[in-house]
Amino acid sequence: MMDPKLIVLKEYFGHSAFRAGQSDIVDCLLSGRDALCVMPTGAGKSICYQVPALLFDGITIVVSPLISLMKDQVTSLVQAGIPAAFFNSSLTAAQYAKALQNAANGKYKLIYVAPERLLTPEFLSLCRARRISMVAVDEAHCVSQWGQDFRPSYLKISEFITSLPARPVVGAFTATATQEVKQDILKLLGLQDPLSVTTGFDRPNLFFSVLQPSSKDEKLLALLHERREKSGIVYCATRNAVEEVCNLLNRNGFSATRYHAGLSDAERKANQEDFVFDRKTVMVATNAFGMGIDKSNVGYVIHYNMPKNMESYYQEAGRAGRDGEEADCVLLYGPKDVRTNQFLIENSEANPELTPEEQSILREKDQERLKQMTYYCKTQDCLRSFILKYFGETAANYCGKCSNCLTQYETVDITEDAQKILSCILRTGQRFGKKMICDILRGSKNERLLRLGLDSQTTYAIMKDCSEKRLRGIIDFLELQGYAVTEGAEYPVMKATAKSAEILRGNVNLCMKLPKQQKKETHAEESTVVNAALFTALKQLRNELAFREGVPAYMIFSNATLTDMSKKCPKTAEALLNVSGVGKVKLAKYGDKFLEVLRKF
Ligand code: ADP
Ligand code: ZN
Repeated sequence: MMDPKLIVLKEYFGHSAFRAGQSDIVDCLLSGRDALCVMPTGAGKSICYQVPALLFDGITIVVSPLISLMKDQVTSLVQAGIPAAFFNSSLTAAQYAKALQNAANGKYKLIYVAPERLLTPEFLSLCRARRISMVAVDEAHCVSQWGQDFRPSYLKISEFITSLPARPVVGAFTATATQEVKQDILKLLGLQDPLSVTTGFDRPNLFFSVLQPSSKDEKLLALLHERREKSGIVYCATRNAVEEVCNLLNRNGFSATRYHAGLSDAERKANQEDFVFDRKTVMVATNAFGMGIDKSNVGYVIHYNMPKNMESYYQEAGRAGRDGEEADCVLLYGPKDVRTNQFLIENSEANPELTPEEQSILREKDQERLKQMTYYCKTQDCLRSFILKYFGETAANYCGKCSNCLTQYETVDITEDAQKILSCILRTGQRFGKKMICDILRGSKNERLLRLGLDSQTTYAIMKDCSEKRLRGIIDFLELQGYAVTEGAEYPVMKATAKSAEILRGNVNLCMKLPKQQKKETHAEESTVVNAALFTALKQLRNELAFREGVPAYMIFSNATLTDMSKKCPKTAEALLNVSGVGKVKLAKYGDKFLEVLRKF
């Protein structure tokens, strides 16, 4: 006999196999044992509690902090024929009363609830009257004050669980958890002897690249031009940058919308929907956008600015390619990004829940995280391996699928360049920043440089044939090797260290790896679709259905499903069921319409 969990997976979700880690968690929860599941965004956490929820007799309560996520998930479940509802502040009193009544009559298998609602009398009495089989805590790191988004209401979850007549099995789910945060989750949610599963953080379908273009705007336009057919997100560090970049894109004929905390709720909602429903193809946003948005067909995530830490970067970049299709994660790095982030850390609002000591520990941690983020942008080694190691995994040093692995480096003797740079720093009195040092060496005619008479320096223009990028690369290398330092927070200036004497005297030779040629920066527009005409026809049908039902297109079928469908080109209902992402409910709902199109090919 077939395993019931596999039957449920195929029948409701249309998948024919569990991904790594999923089946362990499902088995564990089904056996009544608590579980802590750490999986990166897009790895498929929801399945881990949705499948057991369908196999349990009673109701599963899903605690989630994000209203938009709840709505999205519940819509998806209902689409797949699973009775589910959400209880949060977006419901009117009348809707809430109706939903409570439905729940009391046993209409729902899954109930998504905001943490603030758990201990309210009406919700508690509902949960005491019905059998609660499981409590699934989404975004479980919110319980820890060391995490990124501490939510005091999460501390109420364990009280809720203990106040139930019979203890349900508890599952905790999160995408980022350091050792510290994991301990907090175990303790503060009161997990009992949980199975802890941390799955591979690798997302093999993502291509990572870091670029340091001389003009970010031009680079961005070029990148988007290559991806006109795709939908994607451009993240910026500030509201201003969002406004500017969004205008830039619209001026250049892209269909872009924007999202940041400075817009009204109504506009944010409208813009988000334009993007989710594919009415606009590019979303330009601050990090306020994306939490809880489960749009699976995001083909690229471009960071116009470097984020403040790797956790944020990987979470944001991870919003690309959730449907398993090849997708690009591009970070456009500029040295100014470091200063912007430093400023943001120094001026971040104090969390009123923390003591001043805790506050300063937190700030130190933020500085350290920023440093690691900067290393990611400067490393010449495999980017994927850097990410995986940062999250505590072992990884091969070569992935073959990131901009560093595909850039050929040559080892160059830079001793002479280093001597020129260091003597420029010393002869100008160690009172200028990196930009000015570069300008002097490259013989720039910038106004301030001329006003200060720096063009009469002996080191003026002695590296005029070196590109700014290469020169900065060498200076960064000298810093990393301890021959020079940048000092001063407000007006950073470059200084030579005592160690630099070895180089100036010519006692040591210095070599570094520099890029030879850029072979391929990102995925080209390579289509994995075998039959493009069929794919287009299927997509069109999907969009019509989505429009008619008022749901986002990917909720009918994901791009990955349409790709598989056009590859297999099934002609019968049975064959259609073999397509990844087609379950029984969707087959019954949409099968005939899709078969009609498929039979024409
Ligand atoms: P997370 O919550 O971990 O960010 P989701 O639960 O939203 O991830 O899943 C991300 C995507 O992966 C969804 O589009 C989902 O349909 C798909 N997915 C999940 N599990 C499987 C599976 N076993 N096989 C194929 N696709 C899957
Ligand atoms: Zn690599």
